[in-house]
Amino acid sequence: MGTEIRDLIEKLYQTSLLEEKELLYLLQNYSKEAALLLAQRANEIRLKHYGDKVYLRGLIEFSNYCHRHCKYCGIRSENDKVSRYRLSEDEIINCIDMGYQLGYRTVVLQGGEDIYYTDDRIVALLERIKEKWPQIAITLSIGEKSYAAYKRFFEAGAERYLLRHETACETLYKSLHPHMSYDNRMRCLRDLKEIGYQVGTGFIVGLPGQNAQHLVEDLMFIKSFKPHMVGIGPFMPQKDTPLGNMPAGTADMTTYLISILRLLQGDLLLPATTSLGSIDPLGREKGLKAGANVVMPNLSPIEVRDKYALYDGKICTGDEAAQCRKCIEKRIEKSGYKVDMGRGDHKNFIASIK
Ligand code: SF4
Repeated sequence: MGTEIRDLIEKLYQTSLLEEKELLYLLQNYSKEAALLLAQRANEIRLKHYGDKVYLRGLIEFSNYCHRHCKYCGIRSENDKVSRYRLSEDEIINCIDMGYQLGYRTVVLQGGEDIYYTDDRIVALLERIKEKWPQIAITLSIGEKSYAAYKRFFEAGAERYLLRHETACETLYKSLHPHMSYDNRMRCLRDLKEIGYQVGTGFIVGLPGQNAQHLVEDLMFIKSFKPHMVGIGPFMPQKDTPLGNMPAGTADMTTYLISILRLLQGDLLLPATTSLGSIDPLGREKGLKAGANVVMPNLSPIEVRDKYALYDGKICTGDEAAQCRKCIEKRIEKSGYKVDMGRGDHKNFIASIK
């Protein structure tokens, strides 16, 4: 590793700031040594903000119906090879019940943009969950909605919302998301923040057509937007999509970016994502060591797990929720961290409710 790269990493560590051209240089000069130094520095910052805790969130993938056409996604509406499923309200409640008994105090309700789950149905579901488990933190990840809908969900008890921006380059965004609007995506993110959610965004690493400059745009967007969470994962092709033959992203570049994100915004909640664990059997461990501090084990019923196939080769589709919980706990401890089953709020959010 040259002194220039070393100096850039130290500057990022000391100031949380790099200029665009410096970030570009850092991304274009990946090396194992640079990744190791970045990870060490990122780990120091993560320990400063969140200690050695790793927050577990129970993920419930409640519907794989989606009316969108994202070219990389295995459950896009045009894919007629997918076996579609939708959990009922009762089934979702049962998943949460099981998760609660396993110790989870936060759940992520994720689905495609399914027109069956209208705003009224989502509100009814949230109210039912909150009535039964007032202390549970609910994250929604159900795509683009109106300001009014986001507000209703918030008032009904959802406190967090995940909506990846996918790529901050408008041209690349348009090429991958037919009939969708980049401006509307950004509007959604701004609305969520204004309403008061803990907001998660994120991007895909190694998208076909993506270059280092695009990744710099992602980092600059995050630096200015200041989300509470950022989820990134490598692009993984799904064979029945238009990008099914394209090469996958890499675990190395994804973990490199996790470290950069941790140094750019030290207080982020950063998941070691399932896609990272799918592309590399030790991907989640590598993500944690690179600065991530969240893992989202699956609470969905086993019968539907492999149907939520956004990409091929997804892990953890055959394990009971209790097995997943134990397996991930071991992996976290082996990586040198401790499982935290609490709500796992962003540190500023905790400060604001004290
Ligand atoms: S990425 Fe999301 S919005 Fe796009 S097709 Fe897949 S589930 Fe639907």
